[in-house]
Amino acid sequence: MTRLELRNVSKRFGNLDVLADVSLNVAAGEFVSILGPSGAGKSTIFQLLTGGLNGASGELLFDGAPLDDHGRHFAFMPQRDALMPWRRIIDNTTLGLEVQGVGRKAARARVEPLFAEFGLAGFERHYPAQLSGGMRQRAALLRTVVQQRDMLLLDEPFGALDALTRTSMQRWLEQMWRHHRWTALLITHDVREAVFLSDRIYVLSARPARIVSEIKVPLPRP
Ligand code: ADP
Ligand code: ADP
Repeated sequence: MTRLELRNVSKRFGNLDVLADVSLNVAAGEFVSILGPSGAGKSTIFQLLTGGLNGASGELLFDGAPLDDHGRHFAFMPQRDALMPWRRIIDNTTLGLEVQGVGRKAARARVEPLFAEFGLAGFERHYPAQLSGGMRQRAALLRTVVQQRDMLLLDEPFGALDALTRTSMQRWLEQMWRHHRWTALLITHDVREAVFLSDRIYVLSARPARIVSEIKVPLPRP
């Protein structure tokens, strides 16, 4: 079943063509990547999803209907700076729920049982600066998935990590995904990451971004 669909989406910033006729879809339970060079327009696609077409042309559909209430469908994880340095890890992971109106105590009760699975047991009361980069990204992902939205939007979640940590995080996320089957859209410029994590990959050209190919990743994954 198709959840998200972009139909012929084009976007310009002033004279700059950024997205040219981008069409893509993500089915329920599918992990899809958008792979493209830096500056191609990948983040712009996420901006449209979370903020509306805003002058772009084309159509955004969710479950077959025009995408209107964006916040309701997506949980977004940025590349970096997701955590507020002055909040303890536990209070960072509840942030998304608190924004949804869940009280702090109820939010804590929802995130606490997940700390072990996310490799963060014992670090609830630490501050972000006391954790490794990989742990911080796992905390950011924990905050994202507990929101229980329809779909995860992951913007280069491991892009700022060193190569070894990135590889271990990719393996970890792959295991997590096999278990939870989140519907996810990942943007990355890392070919290996896209192949390792995805069911399908849309390859974008450099600006203006067009989809130059769509690759179905054969299972089992490498
Ligand atoms: P990517 O995520 O693939 O690295 P982006 O979507 O961030 O690429 O950006 C695509 C292009 O659009 C870049 O050249 C960027 O400079 C330009 N761009 C992004 N946002 C704006 C904006 N608000 N105003 C003008 N240009 C922008
Ligand atoms: P990364 O995710 O960056 O690869 P790991 O999560 O593999 O790092 O770190 C391995 C373990 O090292 C963690 O589970 C944790 O127990 C411990 N650790 C990492 N950073 C710290 C820290 N700043 N303080 C205490 N223990 C840490």
